Amino acid sequence: MTNSATVDTAAQQAGLTNQAPVPITVARGDGIGPEIMQATLDILSAAGARLSIQEIEIGEQLYKKGVMSGIEDSSWDSILQTRVFLKAPITTPQGGGVKSLNVTTRKTLGLYANVRPCVSYHPFVDTKHPTMNVVIVRENEEDLYAGIEHRQTDEVYQCLKLISRPGSEKIIRYAFEYAVANNRKKVTCFTKDNIMKFTDGLFHKVFDEVAAEYPQIENEHWIVDIGAAKLADSPETFDVVVMPNLYGDILSDVAAQIAGSVGLAGSANIGEKAAMFEAIHGSAPRRAGQNLANPSGLLLGAVQMLVHIGQQDVAQLVHNAWLRTLEDGVHTYDIFKEKVSKQKVGTQEFSEAVVARIGQVPETLQAVRYQAPADADPTKPPKPIYTPVKPANKELKGVDVFVHCAGIQPNDLGAKLEALQADNLRLQVVSNRGQKVYPQGFAETFCTDHWRCRFLAPEDGNITHQDVIDLLKRIAASGLDFIKTEHLCTFDGEKGWTAAQGT
Ligand code: NAD
Repeated sequence: MTNSATVDTAAQQAGLTNQAPVPITVARGDGIGPEIMQATLDILSAAGARLSIQEIEIGEQLYKKGVMSGIEDSSWDSILQTRVFLKAPITTPQGGGVKSLNVTTRKTLGLYANVRPCVSYHPFVDTKHPTMNVVIVRENEEDLYAGIEHRQTDEVYQCLKLISRPGSEKIIRYAFEYAVANNRKKVTCFTKDNIMKFTDGLFHKVFDEVAAEYPQIENEHWIVDIGAAKLADSPETFDVVVMPNLYGDILSDVAAQIAGSVGLAGSANIGEKAAMFEAIHGSAPRRAGQNLANPSGLLLGAVQMLVHIGQQDVAQLVHNAWLRTLEDGVHTYDIFKEKVSKQKVGTQEFSEAVVARIGQVPETLQAVRYQAPADADPTKPPKPIYTPVKPANKELKGVDVFVHCAGIQPNDLGAKLEALQADNLRLQVVSNRGQKVYPQGFAETFCTDHWRCRFLAPEDGNITHQDVIDLLKRIAASGLDFIKTEHLCTFDGEKGWTAAQGT
Protein backbone atom coordinates (compact mmCIF):
# COMPACT_ATOMS: atom_id res chain seq x y z
CA MET A 1 0.00 0.00 0.00
CA THR A 2 1.32 3.46 -0.72
CA ASN A 3 0.58 4.58 2.84
CA SER A 4 2.00 1.29 3.99
CA ALA A 5 2.17 0.70 7.70
CA THR A 6 3.85 -2.31 9.28
CA VAL A 7 3.43 -5.62 7.54
CA ASP A 8 2.41 -8.28 10.01
CA THR A 9 4.59 -11.33 10.48
CA ALA A 10 1.57 -13.55 9.78
CA ALA A 11 1.37 -11.97 6.35
CA GLN A 12 5.11 -12.45 5.83
CA GLN A 13 4.85 -16.06 6.92
CA ALA A 14 2.03 -16.60 4.46
CA GLY A 15 4.35 -15.31 1.74
CA LEU A 16 1.91 -12.60 0.74
CA THR A 17 4.39 -9.79 0.43
CA ASN A 18 5.88 -10.94 -2.86
CA GLN A 19 2.84 -10.24 -5.05
CA ALA A 20 2.75 -7.10 -7.21
CA PRO A 21 0.57 -4.31 -5.75
CA VAL A 22 -2.85 -3.96 -7.36
CA PRO A 23 -3.94 -0.36 -8.02
CA ILE A 24 -7.22 0.58 -6.34
CA THR A 25 -9.12 3.86 -5.91
CA VAL A 26 -10.12 4.82 -2.37
CA ALA A 27 -12.58 7.49 -1.18
CA ARG A 28 -12.78 8.26 2.53
CA GLY A 29 -16.26 9.81 2.27
CA ASP A 30 -18.12 11.81 4.93
CA GLY A 31 -19.28 11.48 8.54
CA ILE A 32 -17.83 8.30 10.01
CA GLY A 33 -16.34 7.47 6.58
CA PRO A 34 -12.76 8.69 7.19
CA GLU A 35 -12.53 6.82 10.53
CA ILE A 36 -13.84 3.49 9.27
CA MET A 37 -11.75 3.76 6.10
CA GLN A 38 -8.58 4.37 8.13
CA ALA A 39 -9.40 1.37 10.34
CA THR A 40 -10.03 -0.78 7.25
CA LEU A 41 -6.82 0.30 5.50
CA ASP A 42 -4.80 -0.31 8.68
CA ILE A 43 -6.12 -3.88 8.87
CA LEU A 44 -5.55 -4.57 5.16
CA SER A 45 -2.02 -3.21 5.42
CA ALA A 46 -1.22 -5.32 8.46
CA ALA A 47 -2.56 -8.42 6.73
CA GLY A 48 -0.20 -7.86 3.81
CA ALA A 49 -2.68 -6.69 1.18
CA ARG A 50 -0.68 -5.71 -1.91
CA LEU A 51 -2.41 -2.50 -2.88
CA SER A 52 -1.33 0.68 -4.60
CA ILE A 53 -3.84 3.26 -3.43
CA GLN A 54 -5.06 6.29 -5.37
CA GLU A 55 -7.22 8.57 -3.22
CA ILE A 56 -10.09 10.65 -4.59
CA GLU A 57 -12.51 13.06 -2.94
CA ILE A 58 -16.27 12.43 -3.12
CA GLY A 59 -19.40 13.60 -1.34
CA GLU A 60 -20.32 16.56 0.82
CA GLN A 61 -17.35 18.83 0.05
CA LEU A 62 -18.06 18.53 -3.65
CA TYR A 63 -21.82 18.98 -3.31
CA LYS A 64 -21.06 22.18 -1.33
CA LYS A 65 -18.83 23.36 -4.21
CA GLY A 66 -21.78 22.86 -6.59
CA VAL A 67 -20.64 19.55 -8.08
CA MET A 68 -24.12 18.00 -8.04
CA SER A 69 -22.92 14.50 -8.92
CA GLY A 70 -20.71 14.39 -5.77
CA ILE A 71 -17.66 13.38 -7.81
CA GLU A 72 -15.35 15.42 -10.01
CA ASP A 73 -14.74 14.42 -13.63
CA SER A 74 -11.01 13.99 -12.92
CA SER A 75 -11.80 11.36 -10.26
CA TRP A 76 -13.38 9.14 -12.89
CA ASP A 77 -9.91 8.89 -14.49
CA SER A 78 -8.60 7.10 -11.41
CA ILE A 79 -11.59 4.74 -11.19
CA LEU A 80 -11.45 4.01 -14.92
CA GLN A 81 -7.73 3.28 -14.62
CA THR A 82 -7.80 1.08 -11.48
CA ARG A 83 -11.30 -0.36 -12.11
CA VAL A 84 -11.50 -1.18 -8.39
CA PHE A 85 -13.16 1.35 -6.08
CA LEU A 86 -13.24 1.04 -2.28
CA LYS A 87 -15.74 3.64 -1.14
CA ALA A 88 -16.68 4.91 2.33
CA PRO A 89 -20.22 6.22 2.83
CA ILE A 90 -21.04 9.82 1.98
CA THR A 91 -23.61 12.31 3.24
CA THR A 92 -26.18 13.09 0.58
CA PRO A 93 -27.57 16.62 1.04
CA GLN A 94 -31.34 16.94 1.18
CA GLY A 95 -33.03 18.84 -1.60
CA GLY A 96 -33.36 18.96 -5.34
CA GLY A 97 -30.64 18.88 -7.97
CA VAL A 98 -28.42 16.43 -6.07
CA LYS A 99 -27.79 13.11 -7.78
CA SER A 100 -27.19 9.87 -5.91
CA LEU A 101 -23.48 9.12 -6.30
CA ASN A 102 -24.16 5.42 -5.79
CA VAL A 103 -26.71 5.21 -8.59
CA THR A 104 -24.46 7.31 -10.87
CA THR A 105 -21.41 5.13 -10.17
CA ARG A 106 -23.30 1.87 -10.67
CA LYS A 107 -24.79 2.99 -13.97
CA THR A 108 -21.72 4.79 -15.35
CA LEU A 109 -19.48 1.80 -14.71
CA GLY A 110 -22.09 -0.83 -15.60
CA LEU A 111 -21.95 -2.44 -12.14
CA TYR A 112 -24.85 -4.77 -12.79
CA ALA A 113 -24.55 -7.09 -9.78
CA ASN A 114 -24.93 -6.03 -6.15
CA VAL A 115 -23.80 -8.82 -3.85
CA ARG A 116 -24.58 -8.67 -0.13
CA PRO A 117 -23.72 -11.58 2.14
CA CYS A 118 -25.95 -11.47 5.27
CA VAL A 119 -24.57 -13.77 7.95
CA SER A 120 -25.45 -14.33 11.63
CA TYR A 121 -22.63 -14.26 14.20
CA HIS A 122 -24.60 -15.98 16.94
CA PRO A 123 -24.05 -16.07 19.91
CA PHE A 124 -21.66 -13.12 19.69
CA VAL A 125 -24.07 -10.72 17.96
CA ASP A 126 -27.77 -10.70 18.91
CA THR A 127 -30.09 -12.16 16.27
CA LYS A 128 -33.33 -14.10 16.16
CA HIS A 129 -31.86 -16.18 13.31
CA PRO A 130 -28.72 -17.88 14.62
CA THR A 131 -27.99 -20.03 11.55
CA MET A 132 -28.76 -17.48 8.84
CA ASN A 133 -26.27 -17.31 5.96
CA VAL A 134 -27.92 -15.69 2.93
CA VAL A 135 -26.39 -13.90 -0.05
CA ILE A 136 -28.66 -11.39 -1.77
CA VAL A 137 -27.78 -10.84 -5.44
CA ARG A 138 -29.58 -7.71 -6.59
CA GLU A 139 -29.88 -6.47 -10.16
CA ASN A 140 -28.32 -3.03 -10.07
CA GLU A 141 -28.99 -1.15 -13.31
CA GLU A 142 -32.60 -1.30 -14.42
CA ASP A 143 -36.17 -1.86 -13.12
CA LEU A 144 -37.77 1.26 -11.58
CA TYR A 145 -34.25 2.66 -10.99
CA ALA A 146 -33.96 3.70 -14.63
CA GLY A 147 -35.21 6.99 -13.17
CA ILE A 148 -37.57 7.70 -16.06
CA GLU A 149 -40.45 9.52 -14.38
CA HIS A 150 -43.05 11.91 -15.73
CA ARG A 151 -45.96 13.92 -14.47
CA GLN A 152 -48.59 13.25 -17.11
CA THR A 153 -51.74 14.90 -15.83
CA ASP A 154 -52.85 17.04 -12.90
CA GLU A 155 -53.44 13.88 -10.91
CA VAL A 156 -51.14 11.19 -12.24
CA TYR A 157 -47.36 10.65 -12.12
CA GLN A 158 -45.56 7.78 -13.80
CA CYS A 159 -42.31 5.85 -13.23
CA LEU A 160 -41.24 3.42 -15.95
CA LYS A 161 -40.23 -0.09 -14.92
CA LEU A 162 -37.77 -1.42 -17.50
CA ILE A 163 -36.61 -5.03 -17.40
CA SER A 164 -34.43 -6.32 -20.23
CA ARG A 165 -33.63 -9.88 -21.27
CA PRO A 166 -29.82 -9.26 -21.32
CA GLY A 167 -30.03 -7.47 -17.93
CA SER A 168 -32.01 -10.35 -16.42
CA GLU A 169 -29.77 -13.02 -17.91
CA LYS A 170 -26.56 -11.28 -16.73
CA ILE A 171 -27.69 -11.05 -13.09
CA ILE A 172 -29.31 -14.48 -12.92
CA ARG A 173 -26.29 -16.15 -14.49
CA TYR A 174 -24.08 -14.21 -12.06
CA ALA A 175 -26.14 -15.62 -9.15
CA PHE A 176 -25.72 -19.21 -10.38
CA GLU A 177 -22.00 -18.71 -11.12
CA TYR A 178 -21.62 -17.23 -7.62
CA ALA A 179 -23.38 -20.28 -6.16
CA VAL A 180 -21.06 -22.66 -8.01
CA ALA A 181 -17.88 -20.72 -7.11
CA ASN A 182 -18.86 -20.42 -3.44
CA ASN A 183 -20.15 -23.93 -2.90
CA ARG A 184 -23.73 -22.78 -2.39
CA LYS A 185 -26.56 -25.25 -2.88
CA LYS A 186 -29.63 -23.27 -3.92
CA VAL A 187 -30.61 -20.14 -5.84
CA THR A 188 -34.03 -18.60 -5.15
CA CYS A 189 -35.70 -15.97 -7.33
CA PHE A 190 -38.27 -13.43 -6.08
CA THR A 191 -40.60 -11.62 -8.49
CA LYS A 192 -44.16 -10.34 -8.61
CA ASP A 193 -44.97 -11.95 -11.95
CA ASN A 194 -48.55 -12.79 -10.99
CA ILE A 195 -49.18 -9.03 -11.38
CA MET A 196 -46.36 -7.75 -13.62
CA LYS A 197 -46.63 -10.51 -16.18
CA PHE A 198 -44.33 -8.96 -18.76
CA THR A 199 -41.51 -7.34 -16.75
CA ASP A 200 -41.26 -9.63 -13.73
CA GLY A 201 -42.58 -12.42 -15.97
CA LEU A 202 -39.49 -12.04 -18.17
CA PHE A 203 -37.18 -12.14 -15.13
CA HIS A 204 -38.86 -15.34 -13.92
CA LYS A 205 -38.77 -16.93 -17.39
CA VAL A 206 -35.05 -16.16 -17.80
CA PHE A 207 -34.47 -17.54 -14.29
CA ASP A 208 -36.08 -20.86 -15.31
CA GLU A 209 -34.01 -20.97 -18.51
CA VAL A 210 -30.68 -20.26 -16.79
CA ALA A 211 -31.48 -22.54 -13.82
CA ALA A 212 -31.87 -25.46 -16.24
CA GLU A 213 -28.18 -25.04 -17.16
CA TYR A 214 -27.12 -25.61 -13.53
CA PRO A 215 -28.69 -28.94 -12.57
CA GLN A 216 -26.30 -29.27 -9.63
CA ILE A 217 -27.81 -26.16 -7.98
CA GLU A 218 -31.33 -26.38 -6.56
CA ASN A 219 -33.62 -23.58 -7.74
CA GLU A 220 -36.96 -22.16 -6.68
CA HIS A 221 -39.16 -19.13 -7.28
CA TRP A 222 -41.33 -17.24 -4.79
CA ILE A 223 -43.76 -14.41 -5.33
CA VAL A 224 -41.89 -11.56 -3.63
CA ASP A 225 -44.51 -10.77 -0.97
CA ILE A 226 -44.66 -14.24 0.56
CA GLY A 227 -40.97 -14.76 -0.26
CA ALA A 228 -40.08 -11.61 1.72
CA ALA A 229 -42.23 -12.79 4.65
CA LYS A 230 -40.49 -16.15 4.58
CA LEU A 231 -37.05 -14.51 4.32
CA ALA A 232 -37.79 -12.38 7.39
CA ASP A 233 -39.26 -15.32 9.32
CA SER A 234 -36.99 -18.23 8.40
CA PRO A 235 -33.93 -16.89 6.54
CA GLU A 236 -32.05 -20.13 7.24
CA THR A 237 -34.10 -21.81 4.49
CA PHE A 238 -32.49 -19.52 1.86
CA ASP A 239 -29.03 -19.64 0.37
CA VAL A 240 -28.48 -17.33 -2.65
CA VAL A 241 -31.47 -15.09 -3.53
CA VAL A 242 -31.57 -13.20 -6.84
CA MET A 243 -33.99 -10.30 -7.42
CA PRO A 244 -34.79 -7.33 -9.63
CA ASN A 245 -33.46 -3.98 -8.41
CA LEU A 246 -36.25 -2.61 -6.14
CA TYR A 247 -37.03 -5.84 -4.29
CA GLY A 248 -33.29 -6.45 -3.89
CA ASP A 249 -32.69 -2.96 -2.51
CA ILE A 250 -35.37 -3.37 0.15
CA LEU A 251 -34.81 -7.01 1.04
CA SER A 252 -31.01 -6.82 1.25
CA ASP A 253 -31.41 -4.25 4.06
CA VAL A 254 -34.01 -6.47 5.76
CA ALA A 255 -31.70 -9.49 5.47
CA ALA A 256 -28.68 -7.56 6.83
CA GLN A 257 -30.68 -6.17 9.76
CA ILE A 258 -32.20 -9.49 10.84
CA ALA A 259 -28.77 -11.15 10.63
CA GLY A 260 -27.67 -8.82 13.44
CA SER A 261 -27.09 -5.29 12.18
CA VAL A 262 -26.85 -3.29 8.97
CA GLY A 263 -23.57 -2.07 10.50
CA LEU A 264 -21.96 -5.47 9.89
CA ALA A 265 -22.71 -5.98 6.20
CA GLY A 266 -20.47 -5.19 3.26
CA SER A 267 -21.46 -5.08 -0.35
CA ALA A 268 -19.84 -5.59 -3.74
CA ASN A 269 -21.04 -3.92 -6.94
CA ILE A 270 -19.64 -5.95 -9.80
CA GLY A 271 -19.49 -5.03 -13.47
CA GLU A 272 -17.86 -6.32 -16.59
CA LYS A 273 -15.21 -3.59 -16.52
CA ALA A 274 -15.05 -2.37 -12.92
CA ALA A 275 -16.20 -3.03 -9.36
CA MET A 276 -17.05 -0.97 -6.28
CA PHE A 277 -16.95 -2.17 -2.66
CA GLU A 278 -18.56 -0.51 0.35
CA ALA A 279 -20.44 -0.87 3.63
CA ILE A 280 -24.21 -0.93 3.27
CA HIS A 281 -24.81 1.71 5.95
CA GLY A 282 -24.57 5.48 5.52
CA SER A 283 -22.26 8.15 6.93
CA ALA A 284 -23.96 8.30 10.39
CA PRO A 285 -22.99 12.00 10.82
CA ARG A 286 -24.04 12.08 14.49
CA ARG A 287 -21.39 9.45 15.31
CA ALA A 288 -18.64 11.13 13.29
CA GLY A 289 -15.31 12.19 14.77
CA GLN A 290 -15.86 10.39 18.08
CA ASN A 291 -13.97 7.13 17.47
CA LEU A 292 -17.28 5.27 17.96
CA ALA A 293 -18.23 3.76 14.59
CA ASN A 294 -18.00 0.09 13.76
CA PRO A 295 -15.73 -0.37 10.72
CA SER A 296 -16.94 -3.96 10.10
CA GLY A 297 -19.28 -3.26 7.16
CA LEU A 298 -16.56 -1.49 5.17
CA LEU A 299 -13.99 -4.09 6.22
CA LEU A 300 -16.19 -6.92 4.90
CA GLY A 301 -16.70 -4.92 1.69
CA ALA A 302 -12.89 -4.75 1.48
CA VAL A 303 -12.69 -8.53 2.01
CA GLN A 304 -14.97 -8.95 -1.02
CA MET A 305 -12.59 -6.61 -2.90
CA LEU A 306 -9.55 -8.73 -1.96
CA VAL A 307 -11.30 -11.84 -3.30
CA HIS A 308 -12.21 -9.93 -6.47
CA ILE A 309 -8.59 -8.87 -7.14
CA GLY A 310 -7.28 -12.37 -6.52
CA GLN A 311 -5.84 -11.86 -3.02
CA GLN A 312 -7.93 -14.67 -1.52
CA ASP A 313 -5.22 -15.49 1.01
CA VAL A 314 -5.22 -11.95 2.45
CA ALA A 315 -9.04 -11.94 2.42
CA GLN A 316 -9.00 -15.14 4.46
CA LEU A 317 -6.50 -13.73 7.01
CA VAL A 318 -8.55 -10.54 7.46
CA HIS A 319 -11.95 -12.24 7.63
CA ASN A 320 -10.85 -14.87 10.15
CA ALA A 321 -9.08 -12.29 12.34
CA TRP A 322 -12.27 -10.22 12.31
CA LEU A 323 -14.43 -13.24 13.24
CA ARG A 324 -12.03 -14.03 16.09
CA THR A 325 -12.26 -10.42 17.34
CA LEU A 326 -16.08 -10.65 17.42
CA GLU A 327 -15.83 -14.00 19.17
CA ASP A 328 -13.41 -12.60 21.77
CA GLY A 329 -16.12 -10.11 22.74
CA VAL A 330 -14.24 -7.02 21.52
CA HIS A 331 -17.22 -4.99 20.34
CA THR A 332 -18.03 -1.43 19.27
CA TYR A 333 -21.00 0.27 20.95
CA ASP A 334 -23.55 -0.75 18.29
CA ILE A 335 -23.21 -4.49 18.97
CA PHE A 336 -22.08 -4.30 22.61
CA LYS A 337 -24.24 -6.49 24.93
CA GLU A 338 -23.49 -6.77 28.65
CA LYS A 339 -23.61 -10.57 28.95
CA VAL A 340 -21.88 -11.42 25.66
CA SER A 341 -19.35 -8.64 25.09
CA LYS A 342 -16.13 -8.40 27.07
CA GLN A 343 -14.70 -5.06 26.00
CA LYS A 344 -16.40 -1.96 24.60
CA VAL A 345 -13.98 -0.34 22.16
CA GLY A 346 -13.79 2.53 19.72
CA THR A 347 -13.11 2.34 15.99
CA GLN A 348 -9.34 2.50 16.33
CA GLU A 349 -9.11 0.00 19.21
CA PHE A 350 -11.35 -2.39 17.27
CA SER A 351 -9.04 -2.21 14.28
CA GLU A 352 -6.01 -2.78 16.54
CA ALA A 353 -7.77 -5.82 18.02
CA VAL A 354 -8.32 -7.26 14.52
CA VAL A 355 -4.68 -6.56 13.58
CA ALA A 356 -3.54 -8.36 16.74
CA ARG A 357 -5.50 -11.45 15.67
CA ILE A 358 -4.21 -11.69 12.10
CA GLY A 359 -3.17 -15.31 11.64
CA GLN A 360 -5.79 -16.56 14.13
CA VAL A 361 -9.06 -18.28 13.27
CA PRO A 362 -12.36 -18.29 15.17
CA GLU A 363 -13.03 -21.16 17.57
CA THR A 364 -16.85 -21.20 17.67
CA LEU A 365 -17.86 -19.38 14.53
CA GLN A 366 -17.01 -21.10 11.30
CA ALA A 367 -13.68 -20.00 9.84
CA VAL A 368 -13.80 -18.85 6.22
CA ARG A 369 -11.75 -20.29 3.36
CA TYR A 370 -11.27 -18.41 0.12
CA GLN A 371 -9.75 -20.24 -2.82
CA ALA A 372 -8.93 -18.81 -6.20
CA PRO A 373 -10.67 -20.67 -9.01
CA ALA A 374 -8.02 -22.72 -10.84
CA ASP A 375 -8.31 -20.73 -14.08
CA ALA A 376 -8.89 -17.29 -12.53
CA ASP A 377 -7.16 -14.25 -13.94
CA PRO A 378 -7.21 -11.81 -10.99
CA THR A 379 -6.85 -8.77 -13.24
CA LYS A 380 -10.07 -9.54 -15.13
CA PRO A 381 -13.54 -9.55 -13.55
CA PRO A 382 -15.85 -12.32 -14.80
CA LYS A 383 -17.47 -11.64 -18.14
CA PRO A 384 -21.24 -11.61 -17.90
CA ILE A 385 -22.73 -14.04 -20.34
CA TYR A 386 -25.98 -13.42 -22.08
CA THR A 387 -27.48 -14.65 -25.27
CA PRO A 388 -27.99 -11.91 -27.87
CA VAL A 389 -31.70 -11.55 -28.57
CA LYS A 390 -32.64 -12.36 -32.20
CA PRO A 391 -34.87 -9.68 -33.75
CA ALA A 392 -38.44 -11.01 -33.99
CA ASN A 393 -40.97 -10.46 -36.76
CA LYS A 394 -42.67 -7.38 -35.33
CA GLU A 395 -46.11 -6.35 -36.56
CA LEU A 396 -48.01 -3.22 -35.53
CA LYS A 397 -51.56 -4.13 -34.53
CA GLY A 398 -52.82 -1.07 -32.68
CA VAL A 399 -52.04 1.75 -30.28
CA ASP A 400 -52.78 2.78 -26.70
CA VAL A 401 -53.40 6.51 -26.60
CA PHE A 402 -53.19 8.05 -23.13
CA VAL A 403 -55.45 11.06 -22.65
CA HIS A 404 -55.58 13.77 -19.96
CA CYS A 405 -59.22 14.61 -19.39
CA ALA A 406 -60.88 15.73 -16.15
CA GLY A 407 -64.54 15.62 -15.12
CA ILE A 408 -65.78 13.30 -17.86
CA GLN A 409 -67.87 10.13 -17.51
CA PRO A 410 -66.30 7.00 -19.06
CA ASN A 411 -69.29 6.44 -21.37
CA ASP A 412 -69.08 10.03 -22.68
CA LEU A 413 -65.34 9.67 -23.32
CA GLY A 414 -65.94 6.29 -25.01
CA ALA A 415 -68.58 7.80 -27.32
CA LYS A 416 -66.29 10.74 -28.17
CA LEU A 417 -63.40 8.37 -29.04
CA GLU A 418 -65.61 6.05 -31.09
CA ALA A 419 -66.46 9.01 -33.29
CA LEU A 420 -62.73 9.38 -33.99
CA GLN A 421 -61.91 5.76 -34.88
CA ALA A 422 -61.16 4.56 -38.42
CA ASP A 423 -62.26 1.37 -40.16
CA ASN A 424 -58.84 -0.17 -39.61
CA LEU A 425 -58.32 1.19 -36.08
CA ARG A 426 -61.27 0.55 -33.76
CA LEU A 427 -61.67 1.61 -30.14
CA GLN A 428 -61.51 -1.57 -28.10
CA VAL A 429 -61.40 -0.49 -24.48
CA VAL A 430 -60.86 2.53 -22.24
CA SER A 431 -59.22 1.94 -18.87
CA ASN A 432 -58.39 4.15 -15.94
CA ARG A 433 -55.27 3.21 -13.94
CA GLY A 434 -55.45 -0.16 -15.72
CA GLN A 435 -59.10 -0.92 -14.86
CA LYS A 436 -61.56 -1.25 -17.74
CA VAL A 437 -64.21 1.50 -17.54
CA TYR A 438 -65.60 1.41 -21.12
CA PRO A 439 -67.49 -0.37 -22.55
CA GLN A 440 -69.56 -1.81 -19.72
CA GLY A 441 -67.59 -0.42 -16.82
CA PHE A 442 -68.83 -0.23 -13.25
CA ALA A 443 -70.17 3.05 -11.90
CA GLU A 444 -68.31 2.26 -8.65
CA THR A 445 -64.80 2.39 -10.24
CA PHE A 446 -62.90 5.50 -9.14
CA CYS A 447 -61.54 7.43 -12.11
CA THR A 448 -58.67 9.93 -12.30
CA ASP A 449 -57.98 12.38 -15.12
CA HIS A 450 -55.70 9.82 -16.86
CA TRP A 451 -57.26 7.49 -19.45
CA ARG A 452 -55.79 4.74 -21.59
CA CYS A 453 -57.70 4.39 -24.86
CA ARG A 454 -56.89 1.20 -26.78
CA PHE A 455 -57.35 1.15 -30.57
CA LEU A 456 -56.79 -2.12 -32.44
CA ALA A 457 -56.98 -3.23 -36.06
CA PRO A 458 -59.97 -5.58 -36.54
CA GLU A 459 -59.47 -9.26 -37.36
CA ASP A 460 -55.78 -9.32 -36.41
CA GLY A 461 -54.96 -6.89 -39.22
CA ASN A 462 -51.89 -4.66 -39.30
CA ILE A 463 -51.68 -0.89 -39.24
CA THR A 464 -48.94 1.61 -40.13
CA HIS A 465 -47.28 4.49 -38.29
CA GLN A 466 -49.28 6.80 -40.57
CA ASP A 467 -52.54 5.26 -39.25
CA VAL A 468 -51.43 6.16 -35.72
CA ILE A 469 -50.45 9.69 -36.75
CA ASP A 470 -53.82 10.19 -38.48
CA LEU A 471 -55.66 8.99 -35.35
CA LEU A 472 -53.65 11.38 -33.15
CA LYS A 473 -54.44 14.25 -35.52
CA ARG A 474 -58.17 13.52 -35.19
CA ILE A 475 -57.88 13.24 -31.39
CA ALA A 476 -56.00 16.56 -31.17
CA ALA A 477 -58.52 18.25 -33.49
CA SER A 478 -61.38 17.05 -31.24
CA GLY A 479 -59.83 19.01 -28.36
CA LEU A 480 -58.73 15.95 -26.36
CA ASP A 481 -55.24 16.24 -24.80
CA PHE A 482 -53.24 13.10 -25.66
CA ILE A 483 -50.18 12.71 -23.46
CA LYS A 484 -48.46 9.62 -24.78
CA THR A 485 -48.84 6.55 -26.96
CA GLU A 486 -47.69 2.96 -26.68
CA HIS A 487 -47.63 0.82 -29.80
CA LEU A 488 -49.31 -2.58 -29.63
CA CYS A 489 -47.08 -5.02 -31.53
CA THR A 490 -46.85 -8.74 -31.93
CA PHE A 491 -43.41 -10.36 -31.84
CA ASP A 492 -43.34 -13.54 -33.95
CA GLY A 493 -47.11 -13.60 -33.54
CA GLU A 494 -47.04 -13.21 -29.73
CA LYS A 495 -48.92 -10.26 -28.26
CA GLY A 496 -46.59 -7.62 -26.78
CA TRP A 497 -49.20 -6.12 -24.48
CA THR A 498 -51.30 -7.16 -21.53
CA ALA A 499 -55.09 -6.98 -21.32
CA ALA A 500 -56.74 -4.26 -19.24
CA GLN A 501 -58.10 -5.52 -15.90
CA GLY A 502 -61.69 -6.46 -16.40
CA THR A 503 -61.42 -7.32 -20.13
P1 NAD B 1 -26.84 5.65 8.49
O1 NAD B 1 -26.67 4.25 8.04
O2 NAD B 1 -25.74 6.59 8.17
O3 NAD B 1 -27.03 5.68 10.07
C1 NAD B 1 -28.17 5.24 10.77
C2 NAD B 1 -27.77 4.92 12.20
O4 NAD B 1 -27.15 3.66 12.20
C3 NAD B 1 -26.73 5.88 12.79
O5 NAD B 1 -27.30 6.95 13.44
C4 NAD B 1 -25.97 4.99 13.74
O6 NAD B 1 -26.66 4.92 14.96
C5 NAD B 1 -26.05 3.64 13.08
N1 NAD B 1 -24.84 3.29 12.31
C6 NAD B 1 -24.70 3.26 10.96
N2 NAD B 1 -23.48 2.84 10.63
C7 NAD B 1 -22.84 2.59 11.78
C8 NAD B 1 -21.53 2.13 12.09
N3 NAD B 1 -20.64 1.83 11.13
N4 NAD B 1 -21.19 2.00 13.38
C9 NAD B 1 -22.06 2.28 14.34
N5 NAD B 1 -23.31 2.71 14.14
C10 NAD B 1 -23.69 2.87 12.86
O7 NAD B 1 -28.23 6.17 7.89
P2 NAD B 1 -28.85 7.62 7.83
O8 NAD B 1 -28.67 8.32 9.16
O9 NAD B 1 -30.20 7.46 7.30
O10 NAD B 1 -28.01 8.40 6.71
C11 NAD B 1 -26.94 9.29 7.00
C12 NAD B 1 -26.36 9.81 5.69
O11 NAD B 1 -25.77 8.73 4.97
C13 NAD B 1 -27.42 10.42 4.75
O12 NAD B 1 -26.89 11.59 4.18
C14 NAD B 1 -27.62 9.34 3.71
O13 NAD B 1 -28.01 9.90 2.48
C15 NAD B 1 -26.23 8.75 3.63
N6 NAD B 1 -26.14 7.37 3.10
C16 NAD B 1 -25.07 7.08 2.34
C17 NAD B 1 -24.89 5.79 1.85
C18 NAD B 1 -23.68 5.52 1.01
O14 NAD B 1 -22.85 6.38 0.82
N7 NAD B 1 -23.52 4.30 0.52
C19 NAD B 1 -25.80 4.78 2.16
C20 NAD B 1 -26.91 5.09 2.98
C21 NAD B 1 -27.05 6.40 3.45
